[in-house]
Amino acid sequence: MVDRPRDATQRQSANLDVLVVGDGPAGFAAAAACADAGLGVGLVGDRLDEAWPANYGGWVDELAELGVGHLVRHTWRDATVTVRPPHARSLGRGYALVDGEALRAHFAERLGDAPRWSGRGATATHDATGTTVTLTDGRTLRARCVVDASGHRPALAQRAAGDPGFQTALGWLLEVESHPFGLDTMRLMDFGDAPGGDPRRPTFLYAMPFDDRHVFVEETTLCARPARPIDEHRPLLEARLAALGVRVKRVLETERCWIPMGVPLPPADQRVVPFGGAAGFVHPATGYQLATALRRAPALAAALAAHDAPAEAAAAAHAAVWPADARRVWALLTFGMEVLLDLDLARTRAFFDGFFAVSRADWSAYLAGTATLPQVARTMTRVFGAVSPGLKLRLVRHGLSGYGVGALRGLVRG
Ligand SMILES: Cc1cc2nc3c(=O)[nH]c(=O)nc-3n(C[C@H](O)[C@H](O)[C@H](O)COP(=O)(O)OP(=O)(O)OC[C@H]3O[C@@H](n4cnc5c(N)ncnc54)[C@H](O)[C@@H]3O)c2cc1C
Repeated sequence: MVDRPRDATQRQSANLDVLVVGDGPAGFAAAAACADAGLGVGLVGDRLDEAWPANYGGWVDELAELGVGHLVRHTWRDATVTVRPPHARSLGRGYALVDGEALRAHFAERLGDAPRWSGRGATATHDATGTTVTLTDGRTLRARCVVDASGHRPALAQRAAGDPGFQTALGWLLEVESHPFGLDTMRLMDFGDAPGGDPRRPTFLYAMPFDDRHVFVEETTLCARPARPIDEHRPLLEARLAALGVRVKRVLETERCWIPMGVPLPPADQRVVPFGGAAGFVHPATGYQLATALRRAPALAAALAAHDAPAEAAAAAHAAVWPADARRVWALLTFGMEVLLDLDLARTRAFFDGFFAVSRADWSAYLAGTATLPQVARTMTRVFGAVSPGLKLRLVRHGLSGYGVGALRGLVRG
């Protein structure tokens, strides 16, 4: 049955190959890749004219490899991790703050005159020739395939039931009278002693100094279940800044961070193709996602372009976005997250001490989520070998626990 456009909006979208729902970095990346692949693509989102609310960071080499290394606001020659305070371990790897506006402009340029609608997708109904998305205001949009990039609470795609962990954090862009941070180095994870901190529930400082007067600081709970309330990080951040001798003049911007981690990967037997946060791209050990979205967008687009029939295109896109090998690697990474959930400050320090002692190639691939299954297993084995006997025992116990077994079962299923 040929679908007849019911209103002007739908007429405009009637010839679309792909409708991307969601206008965050993943949605724009997916839509731009579809445009690059020659697909007729449209984008619907509710923040088309607003800046993305988060400050995205990433590794200089990784961003360059993904073709966006020039779209950064600031770079640091090195990043450090503090797990044996006061010593800060140099990682010997440059880090960058992404320029969100420039990244959006880069995607927008690739999108050209592809249609964009301001609105929120509410429902999707499928038939043999495509999908009709109804927006919350009643307008309808029609495309051969639909990509759901609406973030961590997907609007259209189905999610598997699960029990994620959560990264929460409170960040401030500060104007300061003075600060102690070296300007060529950012602190990726400073697990130094924080006055007033509870060693059973460790937090760390993430700090990006811009110049003598401006610094971005964030107090973060790496992963907790249930989520640690964001506001609990405020007194910890204040105490840490005071202890470090940061003399604050004023808070210029506040970032509130809530990121589900280790969410179950989406079912592949659905016509809507989730992408980005909606597809569980957030790395279970770090909370990062941007590089994965940039890396997988071309494969998504190529799969959608390779099949005319909507159901076949969707199936190919699921397989391209989450190939079986990547699902297995994710299951192992999620097991790693489950371990981290339970660690106190001393054990968290021991864990990362061991982690960053493996080769840079291995920890980089682990953090990027690009490691092969043997590489992840090797990294875990080495971390396991490096940590104290007490922690080893906990890791073994954890592996035998319900969550550990569940994660490992994911390895077998793929
Ligand atoms: C504060 C913070 C800091 C982070 N920092 C980093 C970092 O440094 N590096 C990194 O790699 N990752 C980081 N992350 C993790 C991750 O990259 C982000 O969560 C990222 O924004 C996820 O991208 P996304 O496009 O999938 O979802 P989102 O950014 O959430 O974008 C989804 C978009 O879709 C819109 N939308 C929602 N519902 C609908 C609907 N029904 N219809 C249409 N549009 C809809 C939303 O308004 C939003 O604009 C951070 C996350 C947070 C919260």
